[in-house]
Amino acid sequence: MTHGMTELSNIAALEPVEESRAGHGRLRDKFGRAITDLRVSVTDRCNYKCVYCRTGNEGAQYTELAIEDYLHMVRLFVSLGVEKVRLTGGEPLLRSGLVEMVQELATMRTSYLPNGEATEVGLPLDLALTTNGHLLESLAQPLKDAGLDRVTVSMDAVDAETFTAITRVPRSFDKVMAGIRKAHAVGLGPVKVNCVLLRGFNDGQIEQFADFSRQEGVIVRFIEWMPLEEDRSWKREMVVSMDEIVERLNAYRPLVELSPHAASETAKRFTFDDGVGEIGIIAPVSRPFCGHCSRVRLTSDGKIRTCLFSQSDHDLQGELRRGGTDRELEAYIRKIVMRKEARHHIGEPGFEKPSRNMVHIGG
Ligand code: SAM
Repeated sequence: MTHGMTELSNIAALEPVEESRAGHGRLRDKFGRAITDLRVSVTDRCNYKCVYCRTGNEGAQYTELAIEDYLHMVRLFVSLGVEKVRLTGGEPLLRSGLVEMVQELATMRTSYLPNGEATEVGLPLDLALTTNGHLLESLAQPLKDAGLDRVTVSMDAVDAETFTAITRVPRSFDKVMAGIRKAHAVGLGPVKVNCVLLRGFNDGQIEQFADFSRQEGVIVRFIEWMPLEEDRSWKREMVVSMDEIVERLNAYRPLVELSPHAASETAKRFTFDDGVGEIGIIAPVSRPFCGHCSRVRLTSDGKIRTCLFSQSDHDLQGELRRGGTDRELEAYIRKIVMRKEARHHIGEPGFEKPSRNMVHIGG
């Protein structure tokens, strides 16, 4: 049995909770998964046109809310049990008011302790941001000062030429490198560098990425490409799987597996036999981890998405605009989260593309 199938059968074995029993306590879905991570997209504009994500022709498609509205929504989720907030996009560093938003988020406190007990004096949120790094050099220090804990920078090649071929933005590599180094220097760490490997584009760089992790002191994470692109270019043969990455890295230098930080961690973690460098591999295609999913997403236009692959989203902003009280909005969130999908169906017959693409959801 594959790891992925184990995850799925875990879900099948769980007794779904009745919707009517979902009104109290920490936010959970009907499979009993606690929802502790919220990803908030603050814009679906992006200054890159990465070949595996965007067509290069489409621009932003959804409206942006006032920062105050995102903060209101985050507060509701935090009151229900969210502990980690990741800001994303589009490209979040394009959004004005971002530093002030982080400042406000840093004042929020969790409503539950790590052991699940409700508390009046919670802990600070775990605040992270995912960025392409293009504007990070000048924003790293202000974001750190505002209270951001960590950044993840997407970087799909370690050489300038391949990087430009993927992002389709000239002279982008040096800017991202400067952003990564600045983030590291100001303590927005551990800095993670995410790389989506595409066969025939950047799969020749696995070993150079290992060097990069060891030399720069960053965690490199390889992510399997998912069918979330704007056009219909996804093909399973182009996905570089976890097994292949592990084999290549082991030939470069023996890998040593690291234990997970938490059950819901998406990456399998490794270092090398000398303990230098860290590699994570996120394998949603070859080893789905839906059984431990703890995430929901809020889109830039204020919709809740319960899965990257959802066929629809849920209009929290509409409920807010209609003047719902916080009690009513919390009840709405509970009801929607209850219906979170069991899992995705990538690669299965009848797979349907989700109703939005990655850049318009927030990865
Ligand atoms: N602009 C920011 C950035 O580049 O990190 C945040 C948004 S971007 C959509 C978030 C992450 O999603 C990036 O690491 C990107 O590489 C990844 N991504 C985009 N499309 C993907 C896909 N189809 N499969 C897997 N990851 C994808």
